[in-house]
Amino acid sequence: MSANFYALAESRFPADRAAPFIETEDGRRYSYADLETISGRYARLLTDLGVVKGDRVAVQVEKSPEAVFLYLACLRAGAAYLPLNTAYTRAEIEYFLTDAEPRVFVCRPDSEAALREVAGKAGVGAVLTLGTDGEGSLPERARWLDSAYDTVACGPDDLAAILYTSGTTGRSKGAMLSHRNLGSNALTLHKVWGFQPNDVLLHALPIFHTHGLFVAINCMLLNGSSMLFLPKFDADTAFRLLPRATVMMGVPTFYTRLLADARLTREATAHMRLFVSGSAPLLAETHREFQERTGHAILERYGMTETCMNTSNPLDGDRVPGTVGFPLPEVEVRVCDDQGTVLGTGEIGVIEVKGPNVFSGYWRMPEKTEQEFRPDGFFITGDVGRIDARGYVHIVGRAKDLVISGGFNVYPKEVETVIDGIDGVVESAVVGVPHPDFGEAVVAVVLRKPGRTDPTAQAVVAACKEQLANYKVPKAVFFAEELPRNTMGKVQKNLLRDQHKGTFAAQAVA
Ligand code: AMP
Repeated sequence: MSANFYALAESRFPADRAAPFIETEDGRRYSYADLETISGRYARLLTDLGVVKGDRVAVQVEKSPEAVFLYLACLRAGAAYLPLNTAYTRAEIEYFLTDAEPRVFVCRPDSEAALREVAGKAGVGAVLTLGTDGEGSLPERARWLDSAYDTVACGPDDLAAILYTSGTTGRSKGAMLSHRNLGSNALTLHKVWGFQPNDVLLHALPIFHTHGLFVAINCMLLNGSSMLFLPKFDADTAFRLLPRATVMMGVPTFYTRLLADARLTREATAHMRLFVSGSAPLLAETHREFQERTGHAILERYGMTETCMNTSNPLDGDRVPGTVGFPLPEVEVRVCDDQGTVLGTGEIGVIEVKGPNVFSGYWRMPEKTEQEFRPDGFFITGDVGRIDARGYVHIVGRAKDLVISGGFNVYPKEVETVIDGIDGVVESAVVGVPHPDFGEAVVAVVLRKPGRTDPTAQAVVAACKEQLANYKVPKAVFFAEELPRNTMGKVQKNLLRDQHKGTFAAQAVA
């Protein structure tokens, strides 16, 4: 049998294809029959445009049901789906298109003019558009095509998607995910989180990231049930829809926002079966407060773009605040020192994982890939953690100084490079500091040339806005005479974090 993830999902679609799959916030409804028809037409169009197995299809569009059908169409056509963060700027898109060499690029109608040129330069064969309400040249050209489409047979190792992660050196890496990666992880999560035929998922995550795309959508596809689809998280809408949902998957920010609202009560969440959190650390305090207010213990899990999900707190059993639970079935997790020696219970080191969930490598970066795998196949996550006596995994930090703001990863180096390029700047250091809403906020410490009073903080922010996605732009800029360094000449970011940790402390949760 084909290992194509779409074929696996299709084998579990409800017998009655009129059953609901997606309902949007404004009441548009799509059934499983719609899913089959529309994804079939899109797959036909991709094939007509010359897409063959292994080709990349890059996509930078807003969240919509049609965007989900496009993802499924790529799988059906045997193409590698390559979703791009909607916040990426033109310069960033140029890098991704040049690096990935997709056969087709789908963008928002209003960015078509600018990006068509970029795509042309990168040698992309065809550019299509897709808007939020299902408009654009992709749906228009697909409308009259035959919806009957034979899903391309794929082997377990065939490429299903490429998801770019940020790179510490400023270069993003494309994590290559196979049909086996998607299938094994979705089957496991579907089982361990106890999905039932009547489950309804409140989906408020972005769909260009592993959490909203693979964890959320793939689980629901295997469950054959429906999602309430929000363009983004919004507390008013969440409270309106919680009585109709049974499961919500969120980043910690969702939970702090719900907690900041007086409407969060036992009654408001009485219809819910499960709240899941991941993508960034959930404060133990948030976990406890949420349980006090609602009676629900948030289930925290841990994963990453390269590995899909690795660990989860149990559905039945103690969901321990501040931990990410146990390794998932078939996933091996160990904590090692820098040399790869396995450490004992409670010892802190780098988390390494192995299993059918782990990606095959970084797109066209064989050396980088080799560096991040141990000879026995374990992937070095770069997360620092420990495993306690009961087997719960704890994450204590991030080896690479990654900042996670609102669930999105920001690598300081990328922001520092932009700031260092501003006239009048000697150097800069970017760190993450606690923020009540975003979990962490990006803060920049900047050294100006002697005697200069420019650039101002506003000018630094403006320069960043021009070149970087919004979530990477510093939320505060400080000026200093020098940066603290250790004897090896490395900037001591922990000192900077300490110094600025109170920056957003007094700010109310928005
Ligand atoms: P991404 O590739 O964007 O999914 O980011 C993956 C990184 O997010 C991981 O390597 C962790 O550093 C972090 N992460 C994900 N889930 C958790 C969690 N539950 N607690 C702490 N950090 C997490």
